[in-house]
Amino acid sequence: MKHLYNHSLEELTEYFQTINQKPFRAKQVFKWLYTKMAFDFDDMSDLSKDLREQLKQECVIDTCLISEKQVSKDGTIKYLFKLADGSLIESVLMIHDYGRSLCVTSQVGCNMQCRFCASGLLKKQRNLTAGEMVNQIMAVMKDTNQRVSHVVVMGTGEPFDNYDEVMKFVRIINHPQGLAIGARHITISTCGLVPKIEQYSHEGIQTNLAISLHAPNDEIRDQLMPINKVYPMDQLRQAVKDYIKETNRRVTFEYIMLKDVNDTLVYARQLAHYMKGLNAYVNLIPYNSVDENGYQPSLHDTVEEFKSELLRLGINVTVRKEHGQDIDGACGQLRAKRSGVK
Ligand code: SAH
Repeated sequence: MKHLYNHSLEELTEYFQTINQKPFRAKQVFKWLYTKMAFDFDDMSDLSKDLREQLKQECVIDTCLISEKQVSKDGTIKYLFKLADGSLIESVLMIHDYGRSLCVTSQVGCNMQCRFCASGLLKKQRNLTAGEMVNQIMAVMKDTNQRVSHVVVMGTGEPFDNYDEVMKFVRIINHPQGLAIGARHITISTCGLVPKIEQYSHEGIQTNLAISLHAPNDEIRDQLMPINKVYPMDQLRQAVKDYIKETNRRVTFEYIMLKDVNDTLVYARQLAHYMKGLNAYVNLIPYNSVDENGYQPSLHDTVEEFKSELLRLGINVTVRKEHGQDIDGACGQLRAKRSGVK
């Protein structure tokens, strides 16, 4: 079966040619899928009955089943989806004043093994297809009956370890005749796969890049993120510098505030030094505790002092607003629970 969300307009055009249909049929179907949000071939009223029947035989639209849903007091919704092969994945919808943002999962499990993260509790089983990532957005739009305006690829998985499918996904949702989610409303977050950052800089697309830094020096980062042993911080900095030069885009560094690990003022100064001269800002992330690993969130005042020190040193900094505190908000928590790990 052909998963329609997995195909660019060009690929759909080719498909319709192979079944002896005019190319404009692809445009019609693409429009039904993304601007009229059809989830049933019978809704596609400008296609002949015969063609609709043929499509039913050969294609599927929605393959994400909502297996569970947790709704937070602040409006955040966490979805647990069951995919066609039975895999469980999570997506989180966050309501902001500027729009509705969906945190999309890119892999079933994750191999990066960051010590503080619940996603790595389950090793990577496979990459998601572009269509399975598109489907997360469509399933949420169907469930809420509202448009998703922003996408962050920050769910379970390392997007740059599934590079081609993630780029295909981005192009499908960005397509002007489809969902048309603006490139500047799409953010890809990576733990720092240096060669892929370089490749990404040549994509010629205006999407955003976020780097999960989480440490001010190699000693601490080595402990938190095994990937740092492969691509240490000086290599990462050079890759980010080159990316900024190539794309003229500002980069976000994500920095989880972990109590007594990376949150003292000495570390704020080291971080400021690392960021000096880069067109980048830092987003301080209040840590969402994962029971297993022993890390604690920094105290509120510590976060504020860390922030002030960065500001004093001329570094742009924001503190991430917390969402879904009363549900299993941390990456991978719900899925790990339901898979019997927690
Ligand atoms: N692999 C990618 C994207 C997925 S993780 C990456 O590393 O960026 C998305 C973000 O959530 C990362 O910055 C990650 O470090 C952070 N994160 C993971 N567990 C968290 C937790 N328990 N609390 C807060 N942020 C967390």
